[in-house]
Amino acid sequence: MPFISTRSAGAAPVSLADAVRRGLAPGGGLYVPTAISAMPPAEFAALRGRSPGEVAAALIAPLVEESFDRDTLGRLMGDALDFPVPLVPLGPGHYVLELFHGPTLAFKDVGARTMARWIAAVAAGKDARPLTVLVATSGDTGGAVAQAFHRVPGTRVVVLYPRGRVSRVQEVQFTTLGDNVSAVAVEGTFDDCQRLVKAAFADHTLGETHRLTSANSINIGRLLPQMAYYAWASLQLPAGTPPPTVVVPSGNLGNLTAGVLAARRGVPIGHFVSATTINDPFPRYLTSGTFTPQDAVPTLASAMDVGHPSNFERLMWLFDGDLARMRATITGVVVTDDEVRSTIRALHANYGYIADPHTAVGWIGAEKAGRHGDGPVVVLATAHPAKFPEVVEPTLGAAVALPPALADRLALDVVATRIPPRLDALTAVLAGTA
Ligand SMILES: *Cc1c(COP(=O)(O)O)cnc(C)c1O
Repeated sequence: MPFISTRSAGAAPVSLADAVRRGLAPGGGLYVPTAISAMPPAEFAALRGRSPGEVAAALIAPLVEESFDRDTLGRLMGDALDFPVPLVPLGPGHYVLELFHGPTLAFKDVGARTMARWIAAVAAGKDARPLTVLVATSGDTGGAVAQAFHRVPGTRVVVLYPRGRVSRVQEVQFTTLGDNVSAVAVEGTFDDCQRLVKAAFADHTLGETHRLTSANSINIGRLLPQMAYYAWASLQLPAGTPPPTVVVPSGNLGNLTAGVLAARRGVPIGHFVSATTINDPFPRYLTSGTFTPQDAVPTLASAMDVGHPSNFERLMWLFDGDLARMRATITGVVVTDDEVRSTIRALHANYGYIADPHTAVGWIGAEKAGRHGDGPVVVLATAHPAKFPEVVEPTLGAAVALPPALADRLALDVVATRIPPRLDALTAVLAGTA
């Protein structure tokens, strides 16, 4: 049984199926792998030229082998990860890993599409009642999860989002699907939404009645698949390249946690840079040794506006609370809106490259963090610029073309139930009485 909770070191470990179905561990902890064995370098190098599904399966197989054999896992991952993830060179020693070519144009497609298939395969079970995937979104998660589970048998999706605080392009991705997907517009912030979801999971009766499961980055089923693209980045670099510094635009710290897991599994990564907006409890922790969550304030990189990053708990667990060791592996940087705008302009002027605001945070974050070792810099490009036209277009003074699938969706009506940020209101929605 490969997974335990961050909060109950002595408790019995659980299987992937149980960890994915529960989302949050009993007692409010987060599931983490009991142990991760590093692949020998030669075994990792032998993955060069293999398909993304095969690479992902090789990385993740030891953690999920109770639930899937290697072939089944490879098939599921290949099906989930059927879009390109190019490593684009951009200036000397610098690359951008474009994670945004999936159906919702953001990196969260990777975790969400895989988890939907894992859940359908192992967790839905024989119970006649559907599994309810309850998810809070600051913008991108909702679309990725809704699209990933849309019409997956034995599941329904309820997306909570802060009303008026997500872009129109984000909103249409989870409010226009219908079928087994419903949207809830909460009068409050993303942190209110996340708090409501946590309260719902903490309510045993509610959890049992609706077979609640989570699809936020707190779900280990979302996190594990994200390890894969750290390996793809490494495998696309010329052979013999020293381990790269990977720059992760960070909010809830799920992406960064997956990177740390990938490194523990043997993916050669020299250093991590965690770049945040001014919602910066994690960079401040790395500097000061004190973790002070705060209410989120809106910035141009809205999907990163998280004041209480959940995965901090996993990172603390992974580093055994050892600040010095964490500092040796991760550098934190904070990026302002002005820097985002000037970076979007500079990337366009210098390379003809159009970056979204989140990717821009990563790019300038790399510069602000300084050099670490001899390796190249790989910035994770987390969203397509067309997802954030309200930022990118006025900054560049030019229109950004929308991919056709998204353009069609923008013409549809938004359907959402409006609620105050209270558990009784969410309960009514779940029961279908709101
Ligand atoms: C969610 C998101 C992030 C932040 O990722 P975390 O795993 O929450 O740290 C960054 N960029 C974009 C575009 C996102 O949607």
